[in-house]
Amino acid sequence: MLLKCNLGFMKYIGAHVSASGGVENAPLNAHEIGAKAFGLFTKNQRQWVAKDLTSESINAFRSNCEKFGYLPQHILPHDSYLINLGHPEKEGLEKSRAAFLDEMRRCEQLGLNRLNFHPGSHLTKTDEESCLKTIAESINIALEKTNGVTAVIENTAGQGSNLGHTFEQIRFIIDYVDDRSRVGVCIDTCHAYSAGYDLKSKEGYDETMSKLEEKIGFDFLRGIHLNDTKKEFGSRVDRHELIGKGILGREVFRRIMNDPRFDGLPIILETPDESMWKEEIRFLYSLVD
Ligand SMILES: [Zn+2]
Ligand SMILES: [Zn+2]
Repeated sequence: MLLKCNLGFMKYIGAHVSASGGVENAPLNAHEIGAKAFGLFTKNQRQWVAKDLTSESINAFRSNCEKFGYLPQHILPHDSYLINLGHPEKEGLEKSRAAFLDEMRRCEQLGLNRLNFHPGSHLTKTDEESCLKTIAESINIALEKTNGVTAVIENTAGQGSNLGHTFEQIRFIIDYVDDRSRVGVCIDTCHAYSAGYDLKSKEGYDETMSKLEEKIGFDFLRGIHLNDTKKEFGSRVDRHELIGKGILGREVFRRIMNDPRFDGLPIILETPDESMWKEEIRFLYSLVD
């Protein structure tokens, strides 16, 4: 048999760690739990505006990342939950676009190369297609004004009027983005299952992955959110659960840990109990054949 490149180090598992007290604390928090990757908010995710990052904070972040061996391609910042790049009303859209641009710039300053976000919602005030076009236009505006940071669209559970719960919707957005080299995708396992993509069974997993390849393409993958779910298949409800303790169970995570298509990507836990992250990371690496 040929050398199987499924060694544990090919997978970069981490968690969405706290940046409280300053972004420079995120790599320290990641290191403490044995993470090889991490996610973070570069500002308070529940507020529209934030103070600019200080040069002290930026330098400390960069040197902590270097000290603990975190490369930009293994760091997946997440934007604020308030931002809706598909907002159907002018005021909300402008506010969202300004906040998103600020977040992209913060990533630029930190030397990061990707920003993960939930695409947006039509709030039942407009149709799906025009909302998706608005999202693409929002991405275009942000990409034009920044350099080196990829806008990473996350699939959603499709709760309420949130779009991005089908691979087709994500593809639609990508097709309207001018600079295809700076748009990417993050797949959240909890969201995918809630949105109606079966990952639990072997057949379902294979089918979902071939749909992902067909509709979007693995080339666009820039990260994974690894979560189990509290909600049943197709529920369209977003409730994360600890790895292996929810409806997905352990097998899907074994499959992912041994699937070379996820090598090299930041794989980020957003599971509900941060005191479990260290153990969850250790458990996931133990699944590698
Ligand atoms: Zn997620
Ligand atoms: Zn979620």
